[in-house]
Amino acid sequence: MTAEKVAAYIGIGANLGDARGNVQRAILQLDTLPLTRLTGQSDFFSSAPVDADGNDYVNAVARIDTQLAAQELLDALQAIELEFGRERPYPNAPRTLDLDILLYGQQKISTEALAVPHPRLTQRAFALIPLLQIDPLIAIPGKGPAHGFVSGVAGQAIRKI
Ligand code: ADP
Ligand code: MG
Repeated sequence: MTAEKVAAYIGIGANLGDARGNVQRAILQLDTLPLTRLTGQSDFFSSAPVDADGNDYVNAVARIDTQLAAQELLDALQAIELEFGRERPYPNAPRTLDLDILLYGQQKISTEALAVPHPRLTQRAFALIPLLQIDPLIAIPGKGPAHGFVSGVAGQAIRKI
């Protein structure tokens, strides 16, 4: 049986090493995952770290079509993070690459390893704004249209780069 194709949105961030290069290469890597193809990407943005130290982040969002299950996708994303030398010395530490599942179709997922929609999606300009660039009409399951949350993050400085 062929698994159903799902449109998923991946939040990408980096603020260590060649952050911009890592974000760009990570997006290309998404297209090489099994049963997955890249279908869209946002501009790149710069944002100050939230509740964290280190350099400003480079952020972007990518859209993929995938037949991987959500947990398989998370495993694949974490394998890419490791390839890019991701370490987790402490929560919110600077990172060479962070790949988060923002949305997985219109599914709501709550397991020990995975919360989708990403719990902070509606509160973070660096995720919400690039997401809306790709799909201005996207809805967040359980929360309604994503654009309804833009005014709430208007105070967060993000800069297109
Ligand atoms: P951050 O929350 O800063 O992105 P990490 O990248 O270190 O932190 O991720 C910590 C854990 O968050 C992962 O091991 C993963 O199991 C969990 N997690 C829960 N929901 C998600 C999601 N939607 N996307 C990515 N990771 C998630
Ligand atoms: Mg993460």
